[in-house]
Amino acid sequence: MIYLDHAATTPIAKEVLEKMYPYFSEHFANPSSQIHPAGRTAKAAIDKSLKSLATSFGVDESELMWTSGATQSCNWAIRGVWKHYSIKRKKIMLSTIEHSAVIETAKYLEREEGAELIWIPVTEDGEVDIDFIAQHINEKVLLIAVMAANNLTGVKQDLKKIGELAKENEVFFFCDATQLIATEDIKPKDLGIDLMAMSAHKFYGPKGIGLLYASRRNPRVNLPNWEYGGGMEIWKKGGTLDTPSIVGMAEALNWVRKQDWERVKVMRDELEDHLKSLGAVILGEKVDRIVNASNISFPGISNKRILQDLQQEIAFSLASACSSQNPGPSHVLTAMRLDEKTINGSFRLSWGLGNSREELEKVKQLFTMQIEKLKN
Ligand code: PLP
Repeated sequence: MIYLDHAATTPIAKEVLEKMYPYFSEHFANPSSQIHPAGRTAKAAIDKSLKSLATSFGVDESELMWTSGATQSCNWAIRGVWKHYSIKRKKIMLSTIEHSAVIETAKYLEREEGAELIWIPVTEDGEVDIDFIAQHINEKVLLIAVMAANNLTGVKQDLKKIGELAKENEVFFFCDATQLIATEDIKPKDLGIDLMAMSAHKFYGPKGIGLLYASRRNPRVNLPNWEYGGGMEIWKKGGTLDTPSIVGMAEALNWVRKQDWERVKVMRDELEDHLKSLGAVILGEKVDRIVNASNISFPGISNKRILQDLQQEIAFSLASACSSQNPGPSHVLTAMRLDEKTINGSFRLSWGLGNSREELEKVKQLFTMQIEKLKN
């Protein structure tokens, strides 16, 4: 099986797993048990990991909060800002192509708490409409949510420009950076991002652990506790911390930064060229995209049919993993106003560091056979 679904999740890197092992067994003590050396060893590993992550993102350790992944980070950021700051400002601006973790949270606030949502449109290439933001952002807007890179197309957004508009209007800027972090460095403070979500399993770390960044200066974003219990004074989140996963997340970020993504980009581009020669269109091809993602369509050829025939040999998706249970066209592709034939022919291939040139050749061959068969 050739795995081309790294936007859904990545494997844990071997080097990362090795660093995690001792914290499952040998150094298993509760990091809150500061009374004995075993607990202090676990706490030291957590402190070291937090410091390393904070340094990578150019933020202070006190600005990072552990979560169970990007979904919880998105929920905490949006619901938290709403809870503490929505007395005067009731509007939330969000792009039409956000992940469901953002969209459903915003819709919940609209339904239950009186938030007014302003949907930011995107171009046919999947870039958010910056002019629309400039025209609609004002002193009534509380928060703007725009993701760093889309999970379906890989298209990146002009975060710096959005950050500037947010600052000028004193609007909180929340960025879901989940899909960008594997392949690119990001420093939220340089981009005017006040809150940022991420998940370790998208960059060769373990599942079930993420971070939320919330700025403590310029502006100070004071979020409510996510829950109540032990450990609240530091983490605003209760419960025993998961030392192996935390160690794994920090190791994964250090590891992934040292990898050769250019090699992956070359393979991604080569396959795109090959598929174009068979009649494919590449969504978002003209604009800036992360290096490992492709959204491809053979207009007029059913993506379901392609998947059905190739799924034993290549693991890939039609929409995002979180919505593959949801039949019907993806909200991202409809927001891009693509025609029905292009939408129904579209699928996502997302490359990873473990993919080889042999696999590339095999994928080319499989698609050639499949497309020729379906064309006839
Ligand atoms: N945001 C984006 C852009 C994603 O791609 C995903 C996962 O697919 C999430 C949020 C949710 O991440 P998690 O499943 O780790 O909570």
